Amino acid sequence: MIRAEHISKSFGKLHALNDVSLNVEKGEVVCLIGPSGSGKSTFLRCIHGLEIPDSGSRYLDGELMDPNDKKKYGEQRERMGFVFQHFNLFPNKTVLDNCTLAQQSVLKRTKEEAEQVALEYLKKVGLLDKKDSYPNALSGGQKQRVAIARALCMNPEIMLFDEPTSALDPEMIKEVLEVMKDLASQGMTMIVVTHEMGFARKVGSKVVFLEAGKVVEESDSESFFTNPKSDRAKDFLSKVF
Ligand code: ADP
Ligand code: MG
Repeated sequence: MIRAEHISKSFGKLHALNDVSLNVEKGEVVCLIGPSGSGKSTFLRCIHGLEIPDSGSRYLDGELMDPNDKKKYGEQRERMGFVFQHFNLFPNKTVLDNCTLAQQSVLKRTKEEAEQVALEYLKKVGLLDKKDSYPNALSGGQKQRVAIARALCMNPEIMLFDEPTSALDPEMIKEVLEVMKDLASQGMTMIVVTHEMGFARKVGSKVVFLEAGKVVEESDSESFFTNPKSDRAKDFLSKVF
């Protein structure tokens, strides 16, 4: 469904990504893990088009993503939802408005249609009763569940998550992971940057371990955790467990 080939990205002299490739099949949950600064966010942002790679190619369903073909590129990007570590909700809009605005402006749905869709997804993440609240009245876990609902309202075929639970207090991590687990069990294709090794092991189909802008190891999740191939992955796992 997604193919990223030989992606490189530098910021000034810093090579954040150096020839990184990844294949994601429909329905797969790929977890990107690795130390801080290894390029996980940059890679996810390059896949989505929040960053444009310096070199390399991205394909969605076999079709090249070409930033010069603005219309098609925009449509391709709309097929992917993105969930940020810090939620990125509009603070001066209600939960319901947060979930309906892009549906109206981008997908040209009417307010009524957009609200119907939003209510469906707010229900799914267990926050129907918060529809008229403002983000600052919500806990971190609730904010992130709104952010997930908001992304789902756009009917994405792929969901990208960048450390969705890293900004949360421990007791709120589970409620967000549960929502993500449900989504995975319903067959959503997902790429998840995470430090939640339990999630990566149980829900992930594949683990990609990055270090210093390179893929060090790519394995199915079970073998990654039971039998990591590289010394770097072994070292990383010994530190997180
Ligand atoms: P990770 O998500 O694995 O922690 P990042 O992809 O955020 O890593 O960053 C990889 C490297 O690129 C880091 O050294 C980081 O400081 C740098 N970097 C990321 N984004 C930018 C940016 N917009 N400008 C300059 N440097 C950046
Ligand atoms: Mg990051």
